[in-house]
Amino acid sequence: MSEFEGLVAAVTGGASGIGRATADLLAARGAKVAVLDLNPGDLPEGLTGFRCDVGSDEEVRSAIAAVAERFGGLDVLINNAGIGAQGDVTANGDDEWHRVLDINVVGMVRLARAALPHLKNSRSAAIVNTCSIAAWAGLPNRALYSASKGAVLSLTLAMATDHLADRIRVNCVCPGTADTPWVGRLLDAAGDPEAERAALAARQPMGRLVTADEVANAVVYLASPLSASTTGTALAVDGGMYGLRPRGP
Ligand code: NAD
Repeated sequence: MSEFEGLVAAVTGGASGIGRATADLLAARGAKVAVLDLNPGDLPEGLTGFRCDVGSDEEVRSAIAAVAERFGGLDVLINNAGIGAQGDVTANGDDEWHRVLDINVVGMVRLARAALPHLKNSRSAAIVNTCSIAAWAGLPNRALYSASKGAVLSLTLAMATDHLADRIRVNCVCPGTADTPWVGRLLDAAGDPEAERAALAARQPMGRLVTADEVANAVVYLASPLSASTTGTALAVDGGMYGLRPRGP
């Protein structure tokens, strides 16, 4: 399949996990793919790395300008970079709240501001934000992270409305717990990683973690002309965690 032939995509956090799986799949489907990451590292043929901290407006602007100049435009923005935070509302002070919201939410805004002038010139423009089931599920001990992803969900809806007339579709994916290096690090830090993995898997009705490739398939669908009538939606890839959860009072 080559539905991205002639299109240029930028993937933040594209060096690892969900972002990397998405970058690989976009390249396999014919896109020219820019990986924007704190540490792009060694990338295979077909992916081009650009060092970029989404926490820096200056770095974001210069990375997007460099991508557009190198590839002659930008059609698809995958806003995927994000960081975690643990605990209830007492666990983190103001500085940590500002830091996580700055990376997870304002980072996506920075990318969108820089990318919009290019996307407006595209024949097939799409933004896909990586949200999380945490935006909806009331997960325990994830107050700050959940708040950041709730903001990503609302931002997605607002942007989808604001850019209808520009013919830029804006959607998000909501992964459940996905088997990525991030989750690997969390498991390594747990007292009993195998028990923790089993607990995370059991939380999802299908009884397993989702894979980065499964999330990437959803992201790429929302980025592609196959979803041309879809904007302002959130697609869960969560082993049934949201749709099948027991409903509260
Ligand atoms: P990961 O840690 O494997 O990859 C994240 C990538 O983002 C890394 O390459 C890292 O260098 C990059 N990054 C981090 N901070 C950055 C910054 N300031 N600027 C640029 N790049 C930066 O993580 P992952 O599990 O693939 O998660 C990717 C996204 O998916 C995140 O937004 C996360 O919130 C979301 N998500 C993950 C899960 C999960 O269970 N893994 C579930 C739901 C949502």
